[in-house]
Amino acid sequence: MHAIGIDIGGTKIAGGVVDENGVILTAERVPTPTGHGSAITDAVVAMIERLAIGRPVGAAGVAAPGFVDAAQSTIYYTPNIPWRNEPLRQNLLARLPHLDITVDNDANAAGWAEYRFGAGRGLTDMTMLTIGTGVGGAIIVDGRLLRGGFGAAGEIGHLRLVPGGLLCGCGARGCIEQYGSGRALLRFANELADAGGVGLVLAEARREHGELDGVIVGDLIQAGDPGAIQALQRLGRHVGETCASLSAVLDPQVFVIGGGVAAAGDLLLDPIRAAYATTLPARGFRPEPMFRTAELVNDAGVVGAADLARSHATAAAEPSGR
Ligand SMILES: [Zn+2]
Repeated sequence: MHAIGIDIGGTKIAGGVVDENGVILTAERVPTPTGHGSAITDAVVAMIERLAIGRPVGAAGVAAPGFVDAAQSTIYYTPNIPWRNEPLRQNLLARLPHLDITVDNDANAAGWAEYRFGAGRGLTDMTMLTIGTGVGGAIIVDGRLLRGGFGAAGEIGHLRLVPGGLLCGCGARGCIEQYGSGRALLRFANELADAGGVGLVLAEARREHGELDGVIVGDLIQAGDPGAIQALQRLGRHVGETCASLSAVLDPQVFVIGGGVAAAGDLLLDPIRAAYATTLPARGFRPEPMFRTAELVNDAGVVGAADLARSHATAAAEPSGR
């Protein structure tokens, strides 16, 4: 069965028709409407209708940032869209009654896509950290996406790493998001530049451009600048320590690192592995996981949302149920 996946982002809505192998057959994107939430619902309905023209589509999955209930129906809260306890699934079903529709958290959809078709395929237990502006998470346990009792599981970015640490956007202090995100990488780079010592180029760039942004730091990392790489290593240490704690609870076969910072590849994975090795409980007496970067990158949300919708529709069609 072909399924439609829709990924609602802060600036754009991406959608596609996805086959059983996770291949996007046709895709489109539009700017995310601003203002009232109903304008976004309208845009999603219109995109699904356009994508479904002339294609045998049975299900549509919608991924959105924020907290989604365990029934894949209601968005409790999203940070950038005025949706609070929004019954998005019911609203979409009312206008698209011929489709099986599900709603999922965007990081969970992306993680599911990596598990099914990307860096986690062929395994049963995978933990994914998406290092973008913030830190997203997705957890696959025994072949299933961990949603939790209320749907809000897998928010790895808000694990406490530093007691009494930096204030996080979620209202708590010391969350991993403040030490392991792209934003944290820029903070480290600016601090290192101001401190001098390492990274003459980093310090020069700081003098020249003022506040260092993601493009400058990314270019310096690619160029092998020691200061920028030291900032990346500091980020990697925090992420590696977090992964060791996660192993104590989840014991995954693979950690998948996604998001823009993952483009650094082994420059990021090596300090993660090193910090993991020094932090893991009972190290040397247990099998250790692999560390990989994500494979699907920009398409993961669309592919994962579609596959979660297909799984839901298939399970509903089985007379025995699950
Ligand atoms: Zn937080």
